[in-house]
Amino acid sequence: MPPTAPTIAPGARRFVDLHMHSTASDGALAPADVVRAAAAANLAAIALTDHDTVAGVADARLEGERLGVRVIPGVELSATENGQETHLLGLHLANVEELDRHLAEFRHARRTRAEHMVERLNSVGIPITMASIEAQAAGGAIGRPHVARALVLGGWVADHRDAFDRYLGAGRPGYVGKPRLEIAEAIRLIHDAGGLAVLAHPGAECTRDRIEQLARLGLDGVEVRHPSHSPDEVARLERVTEELGLVPSGGSDWHGAAGGPRTIGCMQVAPEWLERQEARVEARRAKEPVA
Ligand code: AMP
Ligand code: ZN
Ligand code: FE
Ligand code: FE
Repeated sequence: MPPTAPTIAPGARRFVDLHMHSTASDGALAPADVVRAAAAANLAAIALTDHDTVAGVADARLEGERLGVRVIPGVELSATENGQETHLLGLHLANVEELDRHLAEFRHARRTRAEHMVERLNSVGIPITMASIEAQAAGGAIGRPHVARALVLGGWVADHRDAFDRYLGAGRPGYVGKPRLEIAEAIRLIHDAGGLAVLAHPGAECTRDRIEQLARLGLDGVEVRHPSHSPDEVARLERVTEELGLVPSGGSDWHGAAGGPRTIGCMQVAPEWLERQEARVEARRAKEPVA
């Protein structure tokens, strides 16, 4: 069950949370349970943004209709930008069936990658099996967090963090990269699905020039509010986003943890940002109708 929310004062402002994960990828809660947690946290809307899949969206929307929480169809893609891994959110997707045919390839690649991770871990003396990882993924898009959970259950690491520090982080002995789209292609795929392409958690090192270049490739928005950004970074990213004529976004990147710094709704994103995104998506669809 989702964590219970604190008692909500009548008339309390309802925020939105436009970045979260479910068991469709590496989150801990089923899509409907994510929406129940959103209702308990008094959120007006959420975007479900699982890695490389939209498989959770239908269930989330059904539960959202029941509970009065708007569910924005979304996805989080891993792309390559000048050789570096960049995460890109697709928000307000309209034609998810077509997009999902492309994503199926990435999910397949994630499975193959997990097999390589098993081989690498085995070669350093950890007898982890593919079956134990698949049990964690339960049919969803396989990610490193599933491998981490299998490592914890096997008793080879103390906890999730230890798993990444010792084995799964970039450059560690169990690390294997994933095939990634070029960023321009990822933006195009999201546009073809009728969505907005939003740069996910750009962080402190992200320069204005970089965002400007991405805007030239069609980027629509920037995830300004994210738990990895300091208040100063939020202010800077918001300014750059506005100056470049892009739309701001924000979310918790919640993976279902009951405690810790990343809790559902923690970014307190104003519903006005969602309205601006909708205006932009409407404007694009008026220009280029979705197939
Ligand atoms: P993947 O897409 O399979 O490479 O997994 C990426 C996911 O792993 C992220 O969404 C996080 O949930 C998690 N992750 C990545 N790096 C770390 C880390 N250093 N510590 C804990 N979790 C991490
Ligand atoms: Zn994740
Ligand atoms: Fe991400
Ligand atoms: Fe994420």
